[in-house]
Amino acid sequence: MSYKTIVGLEIHVELMTKTKIFCNCANEFGGEANSHCCPVCLGLPGAIPRLNKRVLEYAIKAGIAFNSDISKFIKMDRKNYFYADLVKGYQTSQDDTPICSGGYIELELDEGVKKIGLNRIHIEEDTGKSVHTEDETLLDYNRAGVPLIEIVTKPEINSGEEARVFLERLKATLEYIEVSDCKMEEGSLRCDVNVNVVDRETGQKTNITEIKNLNSFRSVARAIDYEVDRHIDLLKKGQNTEKETRRWDEVNGETVVMREKGDASDYRYALEGDIPPFTLDDAFIEEIRKSMPELPHEKKARFMDQYDLNDYDAGVLTATRDLANFYEETVKYIDDAKLVSNWIMGDVLRGLKDEDLEIDSLKFDAKALADLLTLVKEDKINNNTAKKVLREMFETGKDPNSIVKERGLIQISDEGALEGIVEEVLAENEQSIIDYKNGKDRALGFLVGQVMKKTRGKANPQLVNKLILEKINNM
Ligand SMILES: [Zn+2]
Repeated sequence: MSYKTIVGLEIHVELMTKTKIFCNCANEFGGEANSHCCPVCLGLPGAIPRLNKRVLEYAIKAGIAFNSDISKFIKMDRKNYFYADLVKGYQTSQDDTPICSGGYIELELDEGVKKIGLNRIHIEEDTGKSVHTEDETLLDYNRAGVPLIEIVTKPEINSGEEARVFLERLKATLEYIEVSDCKMEEGSLRCDVNVNVVDRETGQKTNITEIKNLNSFRSVARAIDYEVDRHIDLLKKGQNTEKETRRWDEVNGETVVMREKGDASDYRYALEGDIPPFTLDDAFIEEIRKSMPELPHEKKARFMDQYDLNDYDAGVLTATRDLANFYEETVKYIDDAKLVSNWIMGDVLRGLKDEDLEIDSLKFDAKALADLLTLVKEDKINNNTAKKVLREMFETGKDPNSIVKERGLIQISDEGALEGIVEEVLAENEQSIIDYKNGKDRALGFLVGQVMKKTRGKANPQLVNKLILEKINNM
């Protein structure tokens, strides 16, 4: 039997505006509880909200980046529900007139490019936060009124891994256009998943379950995989899933029931009368269109062209805006795009992964990496030494020239200085010379290794190779 997995995502993204969506309170993460609040975001009676123009601008930027249709008609609606962190008793959102409709995101998968369609992007306000302690629940309204865009995909994602790749792409693009920092750990990007499966033969479908409490892209993928297995097991037993909301339990790696899912009509959407509907000028949207920065796929194409990189390398180097900037900055200081890409894609990314760091938390800058690579390019240090120096830069952030100087790592490229050592090694290893002459090429590698050992890795290996061959051939 074969089953098809159907996944749709709802992603809430906090926008990095200076102030909240309907008032002038600071839009900042953290801060003393209830210190960024006013009558508007606390929803006190009589307080009148005013829509922040930047929120429209950022939502439109996202819509343009994701190929959506932008609506000039702006209408806000009240979504009614009761919850302690929603003081007004309703959330001001958009119901039937989202600011952006349609659109898509292209994923580069092993099997080719796949387009995932978007239903809509709309703007709304965030709610406050309930802080649960041992015996009481505290309320912090600093987050109330923080601007959000909600991005809803079509149910066109077909696996946990596809969902992960989709989210990576979405995040990279939102960072490129500078509308959100997308920090899942601070809640500035939150993702809910809708999932069900279809039996390809019988056409029988399971009921959609919604999964919440997902704290990383990896947990999104894991939760989907878990849920798909659960749905298939039930179908096999002739049963079906409940239409419900489940919570992902990261520790136990399973989903557990949270509540039965309410229908959309429960929200009794009604016009937000305090913000009368209005129409945007074409010029406003056109201005945003003109100011759009380079998007990930555009930067990738430019990197391939300008720096003569292949598809894969350009893809890795433009995966995040920070990494792409770091690469371009380094190339400014050393005119060798290929050498820089090799080192960033190799030792730099590996080092970041080992230490679980992001590129913006590196202790050295692009100039320092360029200085290190200049030493390599000018044959002042060999590759192995450079790797060691880079590791020290990761740890201490020290400048590569100082490290090389302090540790006396400058490569020995002086024939005179190496000749004596080469002769010494040859005298000590007569058997290797015989082996080499008998066609065992490995013996040469051994001899070079012995010279490297005696110079504590500082000899220029190409030069050592050449000197040994010269001497053996004259024997
Ligand atoms: Zn406020």
